[in-house]
Amino acid sequence: MSVHRIYNFSAGPAVLPLPVLEEAQRDLIALPGVGMSVMEISHRSKPFDAILENAEADMRLLAGIPDNYKILFLQGGASTQFSMVPMNLLTAGATADYILTGDWGKKALKEAKKVGKTTVAASTEPTNFDHIPAQDALTLTPGAAYVHMTSNNTIHGTEWHHLPSVGDAPLVCDTSSNMFSRPIDVAKYGLIYAGAQKNLGPSGVTVVIIREDLLARSADALPTMLNYKVHAENGSRYNTPPAFGIYILGLVLKWLKGVGGLAAIEAINIRKADTLYAELDRTEFWRPHARTDARSRMNITFRLPSEELENAFAKAATAAGFDGLKGHRSVGGMRASIYNAFPEEGITALVEFMREFERKNG
Ligand SMILES: *Cc1c(COP(=O)(O)O)cnc(C)c1O
Repeated sequence: MSVHRIYNFSAGPAVLPLPVLEEAQRDLIALPGVGMSVMEISHRSKPFDAILENAEADMRLLAGIPDNYKILFLQGGASTQFSMVPMNLLTAGATADYILTGDWGKKALKEAKKVGKTTVAASTEPTNFDHIPAQDALTLTPGAAYVHMTSNNTIHGTEWHHLPSVGDAPLVCDTSSNMFSRPIDVAKYGLIYAGAQKNLGPSGVTVVIIREDLLARSADALPTMLNYKVHAENGSRYNTPPAFGIYILGLVLKWLKGVGGLAAIEAINIRKADTLYAELDRTEFWRPHARTDARSRMNITFRLPSEELENAFAKAATAAGFDGLKGHRSVGGMRASIYNAFPEEGITALVEFMREFERKNG
């Protein structure tokens, strides 16, 4: 049976690698050597131990995660991390600095404000989050509990291509939409988190990578399920973890290793993004939102000369088998999300479609 898959530009949940879906389909009813599906076995069984341990080992291998970092597989999405980060790390009397480069960062700040003292170290909102602040635009609090940033701004289509220098404060990063799209120097961070459903797997599993010494800040008074130390001490199995999500995440990591790792996927991601940006820069018809030096390789946002043309483009694109190109309302226009699993031939096909659309409407 041959199945027709269309080009999926969704911002998330998003396209997964076909070999991952095929393997999951093959083994859905019975894992090899187990005779039961991953959804039907105990999370404390040997087969599940192996699934979780392999996922963790592959993550450590791919990103070179140092031994003094714990990897947690949690639930509740990146949005729950907006609360867990301050509840665990924002100690009494201290201040947390937030660098606002998009709507997700604003949501993270909103939750932190409920917990303790915060400041906005910088915000690019006055220009509708079209760039990343320069180092000298940051106002950092000496002795801050942590500095929070969003490495890739899914909605506005900007991405950090350097790390801010934050002194001794732990850097906390929401990497939901570009984790493992490029090499990452984990040692530069105190905590990294990502909802899996953009670049790592299905929704329902959230990855948290935390430097061990920070676990000392998690107070016993916290709700148990919102306490990093509890999850770390229990190997992400204080309660039932998102088993199916961890299984698929493991398959995605195995696929990434097969591609050649993070440097190899970065080269592919640069090629894909460059091809699309080159088309957007070719004529005045297309109007990319992000400033050149802040362009995201994952979410490419652009407008057309009028809303009428944008609606016509969205409609024609859907009819031609390009799904999910309509942009988020805070930017308008179009957004092409081209995560790790998005195939290169889909970029070529989109560029051809754009040329034809411009020829007819430009
Ligand atoms: C999608 C997204 C979120 C929200 O993720 P959930 O898992 O739905 O809570 C947070 N931050 C960023 C950068 C995102 O792209």
